[in-house]
Amino acid sequence: MTFSFAIENTDGRARRGVFTTPHGAVETPMFMPVGTLATVKALDPDDLTAAGAQMILANAYHLHLRPGDDLVRDLGGLHRFMHWDRPILTDSGGFQVFSLATLRTVSEDGVEFRSHVDGSLHVFTPESVMAIEQNLGADVIMQFDHVIPGQSDETAARDASERSIRWLARCVSAREALPPIDGRPPQALFPIVQGGIHEHLRVEAVRAIAGMGDWVGFGIGGLSVGEAKPDMYRILESVDDALPANRPRYLMGVGFPEDLVEGVARGVDLFDCVAPTRMGRNGTVFTPDGRVNIKRAEFRRSDAPIDPSCNCGACARFSRAYLRHLFVTDEILGLRLLSLHNVHFLVRLMRGAREAIRAGTFASWRRDWTERYHSRTSTTA
Ligand SMILES: [Zn+2]
Repeated sequence: MTFSFAIENTDGRARRGVFTTPHGAVETPMFMPVGTLATVKALDPDDLTAAGAQMILANAYHLHLRPGDDLVRDLGGLHRFMHWDRPILTDSGGFQVFSLATLRTVSEDGVEFRSHVDGSLHVFTPESVMAIEQNLGADVIMQFDHVIPGQSDETAARDASERSIRWLARCVSAREALPPIDGRPPQALFPIVQGGIHEHLRVEAVRAIAGMGDWVGFGIGGLSVGEAKPDMYRILESVDDALPANRPRYLMGVGFPEDLVEGVARGVDLFDCVAPTRMGRNGTVFTPDGRVNIKRAEFRRSDAPIDPSCNCGACARFSRAYLRHLFVTDEILGLRLLSLHNVHFLVRLMRGAREAIRAGTFASWRRDWTERYHSRTSTTA
């Protein structure tokens, strides 16, 4: 079997498993670093491997605009193009079309928009996005969906969710009609569960999607887009109850440390977010004691590493004083080292969660981790 998911242990709603793809296995729960433009900003593939990353993301919208998905196809697909031979997932671009592009026109057929790069006019439909994602060649490809703001009312949420389900059916047909690319392993299409913060819409979406096929895994979309945290947690619990237990669940775009821990506690297996690298480039690091801004004056003479328990290339070698100096003087090594640490932090956090689930101690691990992470609010950046 090309794709499979085996759950090794459960502890409450939390699950530890192995998701197998044509490019290898992924231990879950797992954080996937985001390489929007086929690069995890400031890090090279060896850095990601050293951090323990097992699967990464790239983005269909961005790569379609630059350098063009046909170019990536002609150069052998994303794995070869970016020199990453482990699993890759591509987001369909639904989120970017609705958040980055300008002058959108949404119709039943698809979305017409202007590129955020040069203003050129493009049309994304379920059919065109399936062709783009096939050209890119990731292991897991996401359906094209209609993304709406987190606080949308029920009418808007229902409209977008039902359209996303109709677009999912078109994604499936489009894939069947696409001629295969020689020498490429199979790809798995993940549907995306939408429905905003309305539990019954989420449950209806899960039922409709589950009735359409035997999916390799499921995306949970439209969360962490402006809604309150308790709403996200409530929705995750209702989706956990409704989804088939034996398939991986990917919570899209959610990746702050506390969100990962709370997501795992509600049955989520895969996460992604630009937060670790974006915050790293802004001088903010995750530590077991909360977020820290490396630019603070108190670190000017600090000989201590960011996190003594971390074995990343920043913590193993450099002091807070040195890293602060790099930031204050705008040296690019500073951006790189903090990005490296933050990716390590989230990958290691999920390793800790897996070990706790295996040991049956997830509840106390989660409580202790959360207490410590929120204990030093004065240093929160
Ligand atoms: Zn570190």
